[in-house]
Amino acid sequence: MIRTILVPNRGEIAVRIARACREMGIRSILAHAEHDDVRFVRRFFDDAVSLGASYLDVGRVIDAARTCGADAIHPGYGFLSERPELAAACEEADIVFIGPRAASIEAMGSKAHARHLMQRHGVPVVPGYDGEDQTALAAEAERVGFPLLVKASAGGGGKGMKIVRERGELRAQVESARREAMKAFGDDRLLLEKYIEEPRHVEFQIFGDARGEVVHLFERDCSIQRRHQKVVEETPAPRYADELRQRMAQAAVAAARGVDYRNAGTVEFIVTPENDFYFLEMNTRLQVEHPITEQVVGVDLVRAQIDVAGGKPLPWRQEELRQRGHAIEVRVYAEDPDDRFLPRSGTIGVYAEPAGPGVRVDAGVAQGSEVGVSFDPMLAKLVCHAESRDACIGRLDRALRDFTRRCGTRSGIGAGPRFWTCPRPPSRRSASAP
Ligand code: ADP
Repeated sequence: MIRTILVPNRGEIAVRIARACREMGIRSILAHAEHDDVRFVRRFFDDAVSLGASYLDVGRVIDAARTCGADAIHPGYGFLSERPELAAACEEADIVFIGPRAASIEAMGSKAHARHLMQRHGVPVVPGYDGEDQTALAAEAERVGFPLLVKASAGGGGKGMKIVRERGELRAQVESARREAMKAFGDDRLLLEKYIEEPRHVEFQIFGDARGEVVHLFERDCSIQRRHQKVVEETPAPRYADELRQRMAQAAVAAARGVDYRNAGTVEFIVTPENDFYFLEMNTRLQVEHPITEQVVGVDLVRAQIDVAGGKPLPWRQEELRQRGHAIEVRVYAEDPDDRFLPRSGTIGVYAEPAGPGVRVDAGVAQGSEVGVSFDPMLAKLVCHAESRDACIGRLDRALRDFTRRCGTRSGIGAGPRFWTCPRPPSRRSASAP
């Protein structure tokens, strides 16, 4: 049984995990970087420990867990969550890693390797080139055709990803992607994918346990993005027939079974305008956007993660899981809309959250919090849940307006086009789309 959990993370995800611990009667310890302003987050934890300069030192995290008597580590998302080294170090130190086995993280860590694996399990991947021979890229690009996307094999966060519209741009884009990949991941291997125009990003929440059971908790549509990164997520995915969603769900479960997956994970697909879908990648952790699934399916994913990591069977059978109503999440960032949405640092002068039925805010800051430049500028997530998509959009609009009105600025859907720099915002007009 898990008694004490160390959380080497920050912001809203640290708060989210601490809340689950409190509800389960588990002691929680925040492990944080020394120069991070953790005053708000700390309140939710029973204890706190410094990790020194960063959140990324596996040795220090394990030492901190030992010193504090933690028998488990929840890595959250980002930082060490997808480093097989932490999962492996936990296995070695007899500490429960609340996540998948190191081998599954490793298997899915390389986009190229994940593509090979998925193909072996009959899951469709985007047509492209993912071979070892990097000198073959130019010739393979001709075969794949233009436009295409160059991606870093070790990629994540959109780094090392470049669109090549025509042959003449290939060389320069490949070189630039290599440099970026080397800098971000210390690995400059690249792969090519056919560039899908007007894609939709649809991902499935999956969950596995130690008995080899795997269920899915339906999909999330994360097509509204900036610079290839999600900003608005919703579930159910609008405009898809049940039949297509079921085929995708089956592919997601097959992908998870293919790596003997345990705990929470997400299988991401890209969907073409013709409704063909292809595997993009698998994220071997909890996602930022997990709350919309929690609201619509009526589950607590963090509690389930802790239970399953502690050896319990999955708390749900597939046939018991249902979607009820509609949920949308928007991410709230410390950015300057008047200056290309660049991250901004400073002290939060006024902070007041919206409330009311179907409104959930997962925040990592409060009034007076210092927002630095060292970490991701996401401050909070606003999640709305309602009976229908239309009602949900209305509720989200109201809650966004309340958020900014209470903080003394102006926003909300339609209140200022500056917020929506991304394609296809949810709108009342598209709400009735089939
Ligand atoms: P990362 O891991 O760096 O975030 P992903 O492979 O998950 O990269 O892709 C991020 C986003 O980029 C996707 O959600 C999608 O919007 C877009 N994208 C990825 N692959 C393609 C593709 N082959 N064609 C068009 N868009 C793509």
